[in-house]
Amino acid sequence: MTLRLTPDYPLAKYTWLGTGGNADYFGVADTFGDLKEFLKTNTYPIHVLGVGSNVLIRDGGIEGVVLKLGKDFQKIEVKDNTLICGAGARLSEIAKVALENELSGFEFMADIPGTLGGGLFSNAGAFGRALSDCLVRTDALTFDGLEKKHTDFSDWGYRHNPIRNVVFTRAVLKAEKSLKKEQIQSVMNDYHQQRKAHQPQGVRTAGSTFKNPKGKSAGFLLEKCGLKGYKENGAEMSSVHANFLINRGAGGNQLEDFVLRIRQQVLQKEGVLLEMEIQCLGRR
Ligand SMILES: Cc1cc2nc3c(=O)[nH]c(=O)nc-3n(C[C@H](O)[C@H](O)[C@H](O)COP(=O)(O)OP(=O)(O)OC[C@H]3O[C@@H](n4cnc5c(N)ncnc54)[C@H](O)[C@@H]3O)c2cc1C
Repeated sequence: MTLRLTPDYPLAKYTWLGTGGNADYFGVADTFGDLKEFLKTNTYPIHVLGVGSNVLIRDGGIEGVVLKLGKDFQKIEVKDNTLICGAGARLSEIAKVALENELSGFEFMADIPGTLGGGLFSNAGAFGRALSDCLVRTDALTFDGLEKKHTDFSDWGYRHNPIRNVVFTRAVLKAEKSLKKEQIQSVMNDYHQQRKAHQPQGVRTAGSTFKNPKGKSAGFLLEKCGLKGYKENGAEMSSVHANFLINRGAGGNQLEDFVLRIRQQVLQKEGVLLEMEIQCLGRR
């Protein structure tokens, strides 16, 4: 089946922060062939969405086409000590498959709520490990529909991946080593407990708002500026972890303005310009 576009499509339900106007057009690519064929002929601007756990969509919606990856992209295949994963697969699902196959090195992914594609975009990571530490190869399509494979990740870094204007379609991930299921499970349990203790639970958030500046903690800087638990009109910096933005009823533009004001305060008080980790997308 070819990729069908729906005009004027509401996006708020596709994001964890629950904000955003409509996409001019929205479509789901079920297969690699559909996606490639679509990209080759498409003339609109392209945006890809995973499960929206790292985006803040503005109230004016998104120009052009918003694409999601459908069922063919959710597959996870185990081959020796590698996992071949579609970019639409959840990071938690990848961690689960690795656990079942006694492959370690993927424990950090278990509680990151996004997809592999979204994770590749930002080089997602936690507990001292990031996706680039596990990568053997990424497969992508350029926005013009050309196939690109990458095998060198030496210029990826902390929440940084230099590859832009592509749709990641698949990646091959390599295990660190083989470990007994109980050992892997015990590491996952430990990470899970740490998150439960230090991060807000059951709220509308997109994870860390700002990247940690070199040698510093964004959360600590925010706390030092008295911004832990600070709120304005439905926007809040968590009282559990100061770097987590929580939406309690604000719109996308309001949330972005709030975050920019917070950033300004840190700049004035601490002399550090924090860099956004959340991706702000769309029209005001
Ligand atoms: C409670 C919570 C905890 C979190 N903890 C962590 C953490 O520990 N570590 C961490 O790194 N992040 C964390 N995050 C942030 C987020 O889950 C990750 O960044 C995740 O990888 C984003 O995936 P997604 O599918 O939600 O991407 P989205 O939010 O949908 O998209 C994010 C970006 O990726 C791009 N993108 C998505 N799919 C593709 C694709 N196939 N090809 C190209 N670009 C694509 C989008 O265009 C967008 O720019 C957390 C978020 C929450 C809500």
